[in-house]
Amino acid sequence: MKKKHFSVLVILLLLTGCSNQLDEVNWKFWEYFTNDTAEEVVEETPVEEEPVEEEEQPEETPQTEAPPETNENQYVLEEPFFTVLNEEKVIENTDNLLVLVNKNQSLPTDYVPSDLTIPDVPFSFEGDYEKKYLREAAARALEELFAAAEAENVEIFAVSGYRSYETQYGIYNTYLKKWGKEKTNAVSAIPGHSEHQTGLAMDISSRSAALDLTEEFGETPEGKWVKEHASEHGFIIRYPKDGEVITGYQYEPWHLRYVGKEVAAYMDEHDLTLEEFFDRAIKQ
Ligand SMILES: [Zn+2]
Repeated sequence: MKKKHFSVLVILLLLTGCSNQLDEVNWKFWEYFTNDTAEEVVEETPVEEEPVEEEEQPEETPQTEAPPETNENQYVLEEPFFTVLNEEKVIENTDNLLVLVNKNQSLPTDYVPSDLTIPDVPFSFEGDYEKKYLREAAARALEELFAAAEAENVEIFAVSGYRSYETQYGIYNTYLKKWGKEKTNAVSAIPGHSEHQTGLAMDISSRSAALDLTEEFGETPEGKWVKEHASEHGFIIRYPKDGEVITGYQYEPWHLRYVGKEVAAYMDEHDLTLEEFFDRAIKQ
């Protein structure tokens, strides 16, 4: 192609014989020639890569920051409220107000809540015993529940709250000698496995149930009132009727557990035990 161009140029030069004309023709030819060359050069030049604009691209949102998917059966709960266990299934975050104590997981033998206080409510007995105590938050909530009951002329009594590991040890072994292992385990917790050691549980009764802790309390007007209103003040009936397969305990209409108003309302609405609640709760 270049030879051809050159030949054309020579012929043109011969034909013109004039330097001015030659310059004009030569320029035209040169333009043609360089255009041709330019195309070849373009072909040989590596294709320029698209500029990477990493800095201008918006940062991708990490998956962990995305809000968890929920449905009406789930409850989004902050991580510290989930019970943490060591290898022996002993609870590590013992002061968690939603701590889950049951037959599968226990409190450390030396765990004593640091904020135990006596709630200002009527008790079924006189004297300053450890069973009068509850943790601060539970004590204040119990006072609220009892005040609401009193306002509706419902007379209830606190019977048994905080229980130390040592006390539970004594109770359990007394039952064990009397009833044997199977019956004892259905009604009494192995030391360390009692919810009363959390300081968040209170057994209650009424005169109509002879101030006893029996299933009959659930059938009394007071027992029915408590079942209906406990959640409004942050309590749940921890061992409901027909819940033994889940909780490991027979029906105990007298055993109230403090979980706070929001969780209690949710559990009441969805008819859940505390075990089922944690099965459905998702970590935030
Ligand atoms: Zn109890």
